[in-house]
Amino acid sequence: MSEDLLRHEKLFIGGEWVAPTDGEVVASINPSTGKEWATAAYAGTADIDRAVTAANEAFRGPWRKMSGTDRSNILRRLGDLYAANAGRLAELESSDNGMPIRDSRAGIAGHPQYYYYYSGLAANISGRNIQLDPSVHVYTTREPVGVVGMITPWNAPLQTVMWKMAPALAAGCTMVIKPAEQTPITAFELAKLAAEAGVPPGVINVVPGLGSTAGAHLVGHLGVNKISFTGEHRTAMEIMKGASVNLKRLSFETGGKSPHIIFDDADLEQAINAATHSAFALCGQSCALGSRLLVHESVYDKVVNEIASRSTRVRIGNALDPSTQMGPQAHDEQLQKTLRYLDIGRNEGARLVVGGERINSMGDGYFVKPTVFADVTNSMRIAREEIFGPVVGVIKFKTEEEAVAIANDTEYGLVAGLWTQNVGRAHRVAAQIQAGMVWVNTYRYLRYNIPYGGYKISGLNRENGSEGLEPYFETKSTIINLTGNYADAYAQ
Ligand code: NAD
Repeated sequence: MSEDLLRHEKLFIGGEWVAPTDGEVVASINPSTGKEWATAAYAGTADIDRAVTAANEAFRGPWRKMSGTDRSNILRRLGDLYAANAGRLAELESSDNGMPIRDSRAGIAGHPQYYYYYSGLAANISGRNIQLDPSVHVYTTREPVGVVGMITPWNAPLQTVMWKMAPALAAGCTMVIKPAEQTPITAFELAKLAAEAGVPPGVINVVPGLGSTAGAHLVGHLGVNKISFTGEHRTAMEIMKGASVNLKRLSFETGGKSPHIIFDDADLEQAINAATHSAFALCGQSCALGSRLLVHESVYDKVVNEIASRSTRVRIGNALDPSTQMGPQAHDEQLQKTLRYLDIGRNEGARLVVGGERINSMGDGYFVKPTVFADVTNSMRIAREEIFGPVVGVIKFKTEEEAVAIANDTEYGLVAGLWTQNVGRAHRVAAQIQAGMVWVNTYRYLRYNIPYGGYKISGLNRENGSEGLEPYFETKSTIINLTGNYADAYAQ
């Protein structure tokens, strides 16, 4: 192994860095080069047991007794530390998963605000006083749900952990974080910052590892009260089964096949810009991209040709190069999946306008050409299944009703975009779309205080906003008889 590798060969359990007991140390590959750049500890099932025990001890210990104000102060410090370390975090993220450095810098610059927002909510947790009857005093309290198993994907490692960790800390939960096996590094860095911010030992434990062993063990563990998961819906379905052992609380953020609709009355220049960006940003590896582009017949040819032409100007390169607009696929398995779908699209009769192949001139990196398929119908697999590569399928429609019907004809329901200058149409269509977020004349506008999550197989519960805090609470109702006479209270 090379001397200049970044080494993260210990797990973070109970506030200490410990060697895996039944896990191992593995190589982490930089997808821009296809070469090893770091080493990471993977947890085995015994390591997961240790982490769950530490999280339970911390939950019953000082953390449970800490006030919301104290947790709020810790979250604010964590936001400050995160901001101070943003540059380094962005470089690590881009090395680990191939996100262009300009995107990781821009994304990470907004992350501290999430910690500050949940810091504010931590200091403002309250229940309700239910004024039912003068003979009883009824009130609700919000209690942390307990130990949360957090299982996250490789496409946005820091963001997906943060979207769970910040509200869980605000609510007073403790957590066992299992980042994706392909991108284990940045969660370790986050654990360091959290400890520096004053998060007590055992509140945050970081145990990367394989989904089938470490992940499944965490899901089935009786010492875990809730699973908060981001990843594929098929994995969520497995988790739902495994988590049934003690009816764990569940939150899922899963995939999308999001409709991006361009009406004939759209500002075409802006719509085409957004459609190009939302097709190829992050090399197609975001749940929220507009991979199903629905275009009105009167502007169809213009839109297809323009996106195809702009796709050839996208600057593709090493994720750490600041001029790179599109990096590689994050790992070899994802590369192979995308290449399979390029064949599927060709074979099922879609018209390949541009792209359609791996870029072989860029060494061992996992690069694919931005790809536009036209004449796509909504029954084709490339229109129904999540590819997660830089591939957009363009579907033609004639009427507003048809656009809505095609948009909703999918198992998914994460996000949608629509471009129109008719305000009535904007509201009418937004109301009919079955998705957790609808953008009108913009795309991928995500903020800490806007709830995010999916309809149908795209998710369960919401993240961000005050709605993102709710799933980390149990609600307790307390009813106190004020009469001193049980019979009187019962008689109501
Ligand atoms: P994945 O489901 O394969 O893996 C996600 C995580 O689950 C990993 O940590 C993995 O180790 C773990 N895992 C796998 N099998 C498991 C099991 N049986 N039990 C417990 N854990 C298990 O997903 P991925 O390929 O890493 O990520 C891509 C997917 O994530 C896409 O579908 C994408 O749309 C989705 N995603 C959704 C959002 C969102 O906010 N909705 C955000 C990012 C990614």
